[in-house]
Amino acid sequence: MLNLVLFGKPGSGKGTQANFLKDKYDLIHISTGDVFRKNIKNQTELGVKAQGYTQNGELVPDDVTVSMLENEIKQNLPCNGFVFDGFPRTLNQADEMNKILLKYKMELSAIVALEVDDDLLTDRLLKRGLISGRSDDQSREKILTRLYEYRNKTEPLIDYYSKINRFYSVSGVGEINEISSRLLDLIESVR
Ligand code: ADP
Repeated sequence: MLNLVLFGKPGSGKGTQANFLKDKYDLIHISTGDVFRKNIKNQTELGVKAQGYTQNGELVPDDVTVSMLENEIKQNLPCNGFVFDGFPRTLNQADEMNKILLKYKMELSAIVALEVDDDLLTDRLLKRGLISGRSDDQSREKILTRLYEYRNKTEPLIDYYSKINRFYSVSGVGEINEISSRLLDLIESVR
């Protein structure tokens, strides 16, 4: 199996690159943001729980997110592997993910961070907001909240994963296909 975690700030291009990797290696793409948005649209129980948080740019509580992730994994096994986009985002989520991976006899092949600086991200997100219609992309304040959440809760994962030697980072600045080929080179060199 090839199991990849794509890591990076909001707007760093995780979704775009996850789609590329999914096609390239025939993987299942799990985007926690997309799963939340779909559930909110359909007003499922999960959607109702997540709604307030996602709309404000805050992280959804771990218990809700972790059980959703396990569900998504379970539903898609067996498969060639997964590309996780937007999970884990807290240390606790990473611990819980380890337990889930163990339970299903899976291992992470690589955790890859897409590096983009905050000014560029804000521009990208505001532009995306014009087309995506996502309310969390349309306000500077919500974007700031998301970057703040990232710094406080998600950034500590860099240390966490650096310790297991499977953490890599790639510049997320440039043309989409340039970034894809950086990722491809990296994955081919580590798998
Ligand atoms: P972005 O990476 O641009 O912020 P996402 O689509 O990945 O967008 O996520 C949108 C929202 O969904 C987040 O702001 C958050 O509220 C929620 N979310 C996504 N993934 C997680 C997660 N792992 N833990 C908690 N909340 C999450």
